[in-house]
Amino acid sequence: MVRLPEPTPVPANVHINGTNNHPEEDQNAREEKFSVPALQLQIQDLKHPGATRFLNAVNATDSLTTGTVNLLKLLYHKPSDPETTVPPTSSVTLFLENFPGVAYTVGSGADNNVKEIHFSLPYIAQINPSRIAEEINGVITHELVHCFQYNGHGAAPGGLIEGIADWVRLHCNLSPPHWKQEVTENWDAGYQHTAYFLEFLEQRFGRGTVRRINEKLRGSKYHERDFWIELFGQEVEELFTEYTQSLQ
Ligand SMILES: [Zn+2]
Repeated sequence: MVRLPEPTPVPANVHINGTNNHPEEDQNAREEKFSVPALQLQIQDLKHPGATRFLNAVNATDSLTTGTVNLLKLLYHKPSDPETTVPPTSSVTLFLENFPGVAYTVGSGADNNVKEIHFSLPYIAQINPSRIAEEINGVITHELVHCFQYNGHGAAPGGLIEGIADWVRLHCNLSPPHWKQEVTENWDAGYQHTAYFLEFLEQRFGRGTVRRINEKLRGSKYHERDFWIELFGQEVEELFTEYTQSLQ
């Protein structure tokens, strides 16, 4: 008999700094369940060391389901929230494949709603064993965000799209140890740099701010000046200056 490894739990409700200022809001979010689309896993080469390590480290069903629910709560709050609209993603397939790099996501189908996450087997093979489940779940969560986020009708800066993905990863307590808040030249440097800027905005303008940013990326084509002024009454460069000053 072959036993499957114990699934690695990912916290469902993570509060940065360990505080929860809106327990009643979370209670409401828990009562309604987001529907998770069809999930599939395809492994190109089961003999690759990365495949073995993946299968020993995580339960793919749990990783994909938990990652999806976590990101939906962060970006859409709850299914009935009139302020947000969950995109019609119909399926997510995780491909474990032999390619250089880490991971990427592509979409196809009507409304671009059939999503494929491609995750590199050589990358998985070299993750530090002490944090392999965390890193796999972190990468999967980041890529899953790309399956369910908006992009300002294709006009939003790539750095904002990547920053939102890593902001979700940050809030799921799946940030890698090398991430730190540091001053960067541009607000849209992307990844964790923009994620921490977004977290600054979330703290400054209140919980749900990143959700509002994502929703505005659904409703209209991204025009930089209008986008930020309509949301916050300030240009993004001004907000970013405030952020970098807060770090000093
Ligand atoms: Zn990405």
